[in-house]
Amino acid sequence: MRPSGPMTPEIRAALDDTLARLAVLDPGDAFEPRAAATIVEAGLHRLCVPVSSGGLGASMAEAAEVLMALGAIDGSTALGFAMQVHVVGAMRDATVFPERLRTGLDRAIVERAALVNNAATEEGGGSPARGAIPGTRAVPDGDGWRLTGEKTWTTWLPNLTHAFVTARLHEGDEDLARPMVGTFLVDLSSGGVERREGFEALGMRGSASGRLVLNDVRVPAEAVVQRRRIGAPDPRGAAPLAWFGVSIAAAYLGVGEGARAEVVRWAKSRRPGDGSAAVAEIPSVQLRLGRMDAELRAARIVVLDAAGRWEADRDASDVPLAKLVATRAAVTATDEALRIAGGPGFLAGPLERAFRDARAGLINPPLEDVALQGFGRALVAEAKVSRAGEA
Ligand SMILES: Cc1cc2nc3c(=O)[nH]c(=O)nc-3n(C[C@H](O)[C@H](O)[C@H](O)COP(=O)(O)OP(=O)(O)OC[C@H]3O[C@@H](n4cnc5c(N)ncnc54)[C@H](O)[C@@H]3O)c2cc1C
Repeated sequence: MRPSGPMTPEIRAALDDTLARLAVLDPGDAFEPRAAATIVEAGLHRLCVPVSSGGLGASMAEAAEVLMALGAIDGSTALGFAMQVHVVGAMRDATVFPERLRTGLDRAIVERAALVNNAATEEGGGSPARGAIPGTRAVPDGDGWRLTGEKTWTTWLPNLTHAFVTARLHEGDEDLARPMVGTFLVDLSSGGVERREGFEALGMRGSASGRLVLNDVRVPAEAVVQRRRIGAPDPRGAAPLAWFGVSIAAAYLGVGEGARAEVVRWAKSRRPGDGSAAVAEIPSVQLRLGRMDAELRAARIVVLDAAGRWEADRDASDVPLAKLVATRAAVTATDEALRIAGGPGFLAGPLERAFRDARAGLINPPLEDVALQGFGRALVAEAKVSRAGEA
């Protein structure tokens, strides 16, 4: 077993309960609504709600440990739950967040098993992480708003009770170059909300990342989470990006760790040819196992360190690094696992699924090229060079 970080007995119990129930379910590749139900039945859905509000009060490191453990069993379940984790964690740690909205959502989670995610991405709009302007419209309506638009890639859509929806505000004073955008908490039982299936993807097929359609959906004024001109800083501070990056990193790292456990188990039990030796005894296989293990262990250290530094002093500077090394480690590990297992690994099953699931991590923000360019920019800005060009 890998050394694990701190975890309260309550979180450990809820996690163990969930893992035991999930193992029986064996969700496979298809969307499995009972996977979310197991999380709720075990009480784990309250993971990031503060203890004072009836939650489990997880730190970011504890939340990451939970997501890694889930990812090792089922990537899609880990990714779906990562959405609840990052949204609720960010709400707790935000610099500015409407208090009534926060307490109302915490109460909905604890008392009515609410499940929530961000619905930001839109067809053709590209990644919100690159500053896409939402096509979804928010028009004032008395003391509230009416939302119309369509979001894509909304993970766990069939399970969700609420979504944080981004929209462009249409209030009459349109600045086309720098429009106002806002985020609204939408109760998905509202009139005009439609959920559409249709997630035919390479990996994370069970995440049901569907289309959320809003047809003139009425939301009250209190549903506004934040509003600002596009390009202006998020009033919530670094919390949304920190929680998102670490949660995503942990879910995908879990996928890689699951592939490691599965391929070791397989290699020890598989005795090809005359049956005199297990695959696990072949030196070149041990080299491959070592290679995947080194990357996964290093990534775990980076992810937990980034999470710990967020908790300690709200330092999010290494979150993009954590996401980058975690997804790279998951991609390497699942690739090595298939090379070790050969034909049997190529057939439909846990190793083949992990190979596909891990690759979705390359597409979730923070994206590799954005992260790497940021590291490079920082290096250039920090380097002190004399006029003659000497350091
Ligand atoms: C499994 C999964 C689950 C997801 N769940 C959710 C969810 O729950 N909610 C949600 O809102 N979103 C979700 N997303 C969407 C995700 O966050 C991205 O917004 C979405 O994948 C589109 O981003 P993109 O960069 O791939 O597409 P595009 O922005 O269309 O980009 C296409 C390609 O061009 C590149 N590119 C684009 N702009 C630039 C640029 N300026 N410079 C350099 N390269 C550029 C991109 O890197 C990419 O390779 C999910 C995605 C995945 C894979």
